[in-house]
Amino acid sequence: MLVDLSELLSREDKVKSVEIPLEMEVFTSKTGSYPVAEKKPMAFTFTGLGNRRVMLEADIDVTLTIPCDRCLEDVRENIRISTSKEINLGDTDVTRRDALDEMTYISGAEFDAEKFAYGEILVNLPMKVLCSESCKGICNRCGTNLNHEDCGCDTTEPDPRMAKALEVFNSFKEV
Ligand SMILES: [Zn+2]
Ligand SMILES: [Zn+2]
Repeated sequence: MLVDLSELLSREDKVKSVEIPLEMEVFTSKTGSYPVAEKKPMAFTFTGLGNRRVMLEADIDVTLTIPCDRCLEDVRENIRISTSKEINLGDTDVTRRDALDEMTYISGAEFDAEKFAYGEILVNLPMKVLCSESCKGICNRCGTNLNHEDCGCDTTEPDPRMAKALEVFNSFKEV
């Protein structure tokens, strides 16, 4: 949803507060697609600072479903963002694009809440998600989730494919 900030451009101390629903149902980034499990309306407060500058305060609360890094089970990851930024609406679109792509949520005097939210969630996305610190992961032999059962595979022996490769390697050495 777009918010028109033009009324804040010239009037210092003018404040505009809005609640905007987060539209996305799935958050997609280079690392994967994560369904939105829960979301709250986003809260934005814009304060005119004069000179075409606006102070933006934002609160975003969204829960994404992200697979555990070790066992791949779904984990509900709550992401809460509270941030403030100064926006200079006097910048032309061109200088803005050159500056940082995070500024592309501003076009003219319009603020794109959804684009802003996407960028903020992206930088706040956890690098590593675990269902629990003690997650045992999955067996690299049979794929059993070791949190649920013990498959009994002997993981101390090298992988059979690896053993085969070693065999071939050794037979070459003998020649
Ligand atoms: Zn796990
Ligand atoms: Zn196993």
